[in-house]
Amino acid sequence: MFESLSDRLTGSLKDLRGKGRLSASDIDAVCREIRLALLDADVALPVVRAFIARIKERAKGAEVSAALNPAQQVVKIVNDELVGILGGETRRLTFAKNPPTVIMLAGLQGSGKTTLAGKLARWLKTQNHTPLLVACDLQRPGAVSQLQIVGERAGAAVFAPHPGTSIGGGENALGVSAADPVEVARAGVAEARAKQHDVVIIDTAGRLGIDAELMGQAAGIRDATAPDEVLFVLDAMIGQDAVSTAEAFQDGVGFTGVVLTKLDGDARGGAALSVREVTGRPIMFASTGEKLEDFDVFHPDRMASRILG
Ligand code: GDP
Repeated sequence: MFESLSDRLTGSLKDLRGKGRLSASDIDAVCREIRLALLDADVALPVVRAFIARIKERAKGAEVSAALNPAQQVVKIVNDELVGILGGETRRLTFAKNPPTVIMLAGLQGSGKTTLAGKLARWLKTQNHTPLLVACDLQRPGAVSQLQIVGERAGAAVFAPHPGTSIGGGENALGVSAADPVEVARAGVAEARAKQHDVVIIDTAGRLGIDAELMGQAAGIRDATAPDEVLFVLDAMIGQDAVSTAEAFQDGVGFTGVVLTKLDGDARGGAALSVREVTGRPIMFASTGEKLEDFDVFHPDRMASRILG
């Protein structure tokens, strides 16, 4: 990802090299190039406009620094602004004062929620947490058993609403109705409390498109479990649709952070560069493959350096 954006940005900044001084028209020219490169990478138009306006303003007002030549100054400004639109500081998970911490996952079907549940559980376990995965995607056939498989791989317990699949107790725990994801979520949190899991990760159903029923169900799970974090899981490959999807989930459920998945793909990267600015919510984690280890905390500064080469 970002190869083409990266090439074009570094290419346009290269033209500035060797110039002793930058005129307003040099800055305009480089900003035009950057604008086109961002648009071609599927970055949302309002985000591109705001980004370019800030770069222009800062580049024109840049102090002449003894340490940096004008071209280096512009590169630094572009880097700083990229870090800024990617969220600045890394945002860490918020843990509840009174465990369990509840983390709810929301997003379209296929965005990578179930896979992420396993990745998060594995990652939390490396930090001595004792996560419980709760299977509330009762829509997609196979989603519950998929969660059980990733739970097993991650070495994490799974709370699922089918007889014989509950953890520990044997029978279908707490008499949960298999049909009601809200009840499963509520029972899952109670199970975590009873069995001393300090983190609950709730996998929810996603549809191929936004729909009111899906949002209503997710909002019901949110209301029943009062999550400490709602993570919106976003497939970086969906390009321009990322912004409208994020906005729909922000309106319908609300989220505290974003997880970008499939960053290993050949998407043009616009989703990553737009979603923070458009929703005001930070990108917290990045998923870069199908394996449980292909996962890390999102670092805006490292991503910006990757883009600028
Ligand atoms: P859900 O419907 O949101 O639960 O999505 P899944 O977790 O089932 O993921 C959908 C597909 O995407 C599966 O085939 C996953 O293996 C795959 N997947 C998930 N995350 C990533 C990722 O970061 N990179 C790649 N390449 N594939 C992923």
